[in-house]
Amino acid sequence: MRRKIIAGNWKMNKTANEAAALAQELAVHIKMNPHDRVETLIAPPFPFLQTCVRSVSEIPGFHVAAQNCHQEKSGAFTGEVSAAMLASLGVSHVIIGHSERRTFFGETNDILKAKLNAAIEQNLIPVFCVGETLEERNNHRQVLVIEEQLQHTVCQLDYAHLRQIVIAYEPVWAIGTGLTATPEQAQEMHVVIRSLISKSFGHGNAEIIPILYGGSCNPKNAASLFACEDVDGALIGGASLNANDFLSIRNAMISSLA
Ligand code: PEP
Repeated sequence: MRRKIIAGNWKMNKTANEAAALAQELAVHIKMNPHDRVETLIAPPFPFLQTCVRSVSEIPGFHVAAQNCHQEKSGAFTGEVSAAMLASLGVSHVIIGHSERRTFFGETNDILKAKLNAAIEQNLIPVFCVGETLEERNNHRQVLVIEEQLQHTVCQLDYAHLRQIVIAYEPVWAIGTGLTATPEQAQEMHVVIRSLISKSFGHGNAEIIPILYGGSCNPKNAASLFACEDVDGALIGGASLNANDFLSIRNAMISSLA
């Protein structure tokens, strides 16, 4: 049975007090409503990581992710944060390859491969994002695009390290747009991703990798997405900024396992 993951990507939102309050509200709920098969992640902005790590500490299944890391260990990279720094704070996961990083910060497959290795070296769990644009989907290129994104990154990992990663399928046209992939579209693409992993690393390894869906997931559409066999959770942007919405998506996942 694959583990299930509900992950909130707060992006560049919240002030220090707001971030602390949200983390605390989630911590209280998750502590009182634990679930042994559902992990919950929050990915706050860098300055709030430490406060959030304190809020989740000692709550089983509740973890903090960073939204990015630099590929080098240390050095003259003004404004950047290394995987080693994140690990030293008690951060356990890091989002790598989010479409906003690829688009606005020019992150190429080569850079993302280096970031994956940097994270793994520090025992961080990468949540690696892939996804096609609307134009690519309209041109029926979505499978080719995902294959290319994975071939040059995840598929280059050592066997031993593959088991450490989480993949998020995030169609770019669905991120922050209110458009969501249908359950059929999500399931189809998750199968494509799992098959590709299977080709490179074997069926057994592909079966244990959690593949999350991301793109305007909300309390209304979560249950139908989680009913898909290969959808192992969600990476959630907008709806993760509000405790009620985020927790109802988490509840939808818990109900789907009942
Ligand atoms: C995201 O940024 O990863 C995301 C899925 O955002 P949203 O849920 O707002 O579409």
